[in-house]
Amino acid sequence: MSEKVEQLKQHLYRYHDLHGAAAVLGWDEEVNMPPKGAEGRAEQMATLTALAHEIFTSEETGRLLEEAEAEVADMDYRSDEASLVRVVRRDYDKMTKLPTELVAEFSRATSHAFIAWREARQDDDYGHFKPHLQHLLDLILQTVEIIGYEDEPYDALLDFYEPGMKTAEVRALFESLKAGLLPLLEAIQERGAAVDNSFLTEQSYPVERQWELTEVILRKIGYDFSRGRQDKAPHPFTTEFSPSDVRITTRLFPNFPQAAIFGSIHEGGHALYEQGIPFKFARTALGHGATLGLHESQSRLWENMVGRSRNFWRYFFPIMQAFFPQQLMAVDLDTFYRAINRVKPDLIRVEADEVTYNFHIFIRFELEQAMVNGELSLDDLPEAWNEKYRAYLKITPPTDADGCLQDVHWAHGTLGYFPTYTLGNLISAQLFRRVRSEIPDLEAGFAEGEFKPLLDWLREHVHRHGAKFTAPELLEFELGESLDARPLIDYLTTKYRAIYRL
Ligand code: ZN
Repeated sequence: MSEKVEQLKQHLYRYHDLHGAAAVLGWDEEVNMPPKGAEGRAEQMATLTALAHEIFTSEETGRLLEEAEAEVADMDYRSDEASLVRVVRRDYDKMTKLPTELVAEFSRATSHAFIAWREARQDDDYGHFKPHLQHLLDLILQTVEIIGYEDEPYDALLDFYEPGMKTAEVRALFESLKAGLLPLLEAIQERGAAVDNSFLTEQSYPVERQWELTEVILRKIGYDFSRGRQDKAPHPFTTEFSPSDVRITTRLFPNFPQAAIFGSIHEGGHALYEQGIPFKFARTALGHGATLGLHESQSRLWENMVGRSRNFWRYFFPIMQAFFPQQLMAVDLDTFYRAINRVKPDLIRVEADEVTYNFHIFIRFELEQAMVNGELSLDDLPEAWNEKYRAYLKITPPTDADGCLQDVHWAHGTLGYFPTYTLGNLISAQLFRRVRSEIPDLEAGFAEGEFKPLLDWLREHVHRHGAKFTAPELLEFELGESLDARPLIDYLTTKYRAIYRL
């Protein structure tokens, strides 16, 4: 038994417990808290986070970490012990490199920027947000210099969200994906309004029934309600306090039942990942999903490759019809399947279909690099944004509120985060291609309501590793592949050629 690794683990239990407790408060804030509870809650969460940070960045952690490193030096890279020590070292270096004053200033600046962003978006007044964004960008550039990078500044930012990946690799992947998707998108656009979804958007679907339907679906795909729960929240999310308490939220609109259905399946995919983390990793740095890209690969796989497939709805459409007889009795499966897969270039990323979604990410990724490299002044951001929407999606945002002010990410100071969404899409297609070839009747099973073979496969190849590996490592170890745009291009091309009869 590795004595020093065990000591390091024990020492950090309190850190992970404090984090878990702060996460409960965060969940409560979004789901239950009365509006005036915000002030007291902010203090409580700041206290817990500060205590956790103190423990993690303490000299004690540094000393135990060094001792544990000596102990695991000859161990297999893939062993639990060596992986734990490696992951703690990565986080420790990052957290201790940044001066406390910079971290505190960043936290203050994001609080103010968030409020200014909300007001600016409401009033469609980019000028109100711009000085805050400029201040955040200055702090981000300082962070980049302190953290350091080998090739380009953006590498330092990307590494916070997708360790093990370089900007140049992401750029190359995105360029091939773009080249593969542009002809498909153009062909669909030429085809015009070939798909009608008015029976979804022009009828009312009672929200209580939508809610029941999402729970039926979640149970069927394997979400364990004895170790989780679903609630309503304005912005859907997944949060976990331990592998035995993984919660999700969804949102309900009477004229847009897709939001609840696909929102629940998406968050359900994140949650299946967290519920699949081995208990032996609980209260350690390995006790949750690995990178953001890997996390998103799980949610997108369930949402799109499963949840938007024809076989999935062979099973669930009759059930949905029974929930909404008046609205759906005259609709057939094929019409429904095409409607939920309608492609329409639009302004809003979170509502985008599978084909256009990645273009929203390309735009943000390109603009972020330009900002970080000093090639784009923030004065010109709104126009640069609109220019890219015209170039890629042939639409112009009528307001900045629907343009460069639409996402919260920049107000939170998170540059480098957006690419992980598309990385998740790429990884989901690579995993899905493999599982289909290993289990030939996988999709036929969906039509019978059989999702366990897929979940078992993901448990075995992804979930059981917890946070041990980066995305490129996991793909290498489990699939023998590196990240690749081809499987996603092939999947989307096959699917949408059929839907649009191209
Ligand atoms: Zn997600």
